Amino acid sequence: ASDSGDHITQFEEHSSTFLVVGGGIAGVTCAETLAIYHPEEKITLITESSVIKTIANLEPVARYVYKFDVKEQSLNDSLPPAILTIVDRLKTIEALDHFVLTENGRRIYYKYMCLCTGATPNLILGNNPRVIGIRDTDSVLTLQEFLKHAKKVTLLGNGGIASELAYELHGIEVHWVVKDNHIASTFVDPGAAHFFQESIHLKKPDGSNADKANSQSTSIVKRLRYKEIQSKELCKENNKIRGAALGPDWHRNFTLTGNASSTTDSPIIHYKTHIKEIVEKNKKIFITLNNDERIECDFLISATGVEPHHNYSCSIPFSMGTDGGIAVNDMMETNVLDIYAAGDVCTAMWEHGEHWFQMRLWTQARQMGCMAGRSMDAKLTNEVIYQDFCFELFGHVTQLFGYPVVLLGRYNGQGLGTDYELLIRSTAGKEYIKFVLQNGRLRGAILIGNTELAETCENLILNKIDLTPYGDDILNPDIDIEDYFD
Ligand code: FAD
Repeated sequence: ASDSGDHITQFEEHSSTFLVVGGGIAGVTCAETLAIYHPEEKITLITESSVIKTIANLEPVARYVYKFDVKEQSLNDSLPPAILTIVDRLKTIEALDHFVLTENGRRIYYKYMCLCTGATPNLILGNNPRVIGIRDTDSVLTLQEFLKHAKKVTLLGNGGIASELAYELHGIEVHWVVKDNHIASTFVDPGAAHFFQESIHLKKPDGSNADKANSQSTSIVKRLRYKEIQSKELCKENNKIRGAALGPDWHRNFTLTGNASSTTDSPIIHYKTHIKEIVEKNKKIFITLNNDERIECDFLISATGVEPHHNYSCSIPFSMGTDGGIAVNDMMETNVLDIYAAGDVCTAMWEHGEHWFQMRLWTQARQMGCMAGRSMDAKLTNEVIYQDFCFELFGHVTQLFGYPVVLLGRYNGQGLGTDYELLIRSTAGKEYIKFVLQNGRLRGAILIGNTELAETCENLILNKIDLTPYGDDILNPDIDIEDYFD
């Protein structure tokens, strides 16, 4: 059922047991979960746009880690009939009286409400028309428009989006400004960055490269103590070795080709830099970096992270996390009675498990949306529930530079201080495997390529098996480690 977004001159009143705000993965998952538990109750989903995000092709990669596609669908053909959808924008929450007011003049009463209003790109110079951020289909269409007439672009950021764009942009000179001394720093370490950089150089115009270079399959296994790992040195080591709204594959559906006739497809990377100044003149922008280098280009893509989005007021102020998200406990409850939050908009304030941390990703938006739905159900039925097991282990499945990538646990040594070891196996053009070990136990892993190791690693991390007796053999390419731990 749906209700369109026409402007209403007088307050139109609705009431529902469950009100969910936001048509992204978190909101849709939350509403769908509630519809499974309580098809008999009134469930209302308010969303700003009639296009919502749903999950398709859910496939387990390990026991608790899934890969899936994110699909944009029109409201009418995607949700269970138990959910009433309203295209409108939340404006005000009257928490004591349990109702909200919307931009189009609706008053909606709720028993329990979940806020899933996502995040917005952290744009530098957001008011400059030649600076664009990538968030949704509209912003990709804007990017395509710019590309049609552009020969040179500056890409700012070093996370997943910037990394994907660096790989997917063709026919345009790309200047990639990264704050670190290696690329894709949100997800990988300098070693894996080197592995990817080789891939960028190997890239074919059709973007396929993952099957390349298998002929030179020399695998190198190396053990490094954390203190040895000064980024530069690791890059050096790997030089010697020579040896992954919008879905996860959003760029596949769009042609991202510029207007330059002759460019290499390799971006020009400006390491350890940030933008000091941007001047716009004659449909060009002139960028000055902190090292005084100057780049003249047609436009700038800013992919520098997101900020939780909560452009509505509440009669009782929300407690906030330090990153600007609405603080939630392990049941996804905010400090305001009967209001929950899930997905990018929230900050996970419970005491995190040993192998989990928050990262604003689809995977977690889905997990949190589901948890919020379960939790709201438990509140209605007066049941005691426990947090879902998925919050025990950080897991993320993605594609970077054309390769499948699985990230598990504390894959970059996050929060482990200086007391850990890395065991790395790298085969140029084929795979990059990194184990993060602490006191002989696997604490995290980066698996790039078709390694088939995700489930084994998940078990090793969760069961805290002491791997000391196996030494470096644990990544010996001639030994099938799955057999070890059957
Ligand atoms: P969103 O998807 O942002 O949904 C928020 C919803 O709330 C929207 O429907 C919005 O219209 C609605 N809304 C906002 N304010 C209001 C209001 N006042 N009233 C009513 N409705 C409102 N994650 C990955 O895991 N893998 C990736 O490969 C990946 N790639 C990405 C690529 C890009 C270009 C971007 C931008 C993000 C990417 N992410 C990726 C991150 C991922 O998109 C987010 O983590 C995820 O979408 C968060 O889901 P959400 O439901 O919390 O929020």
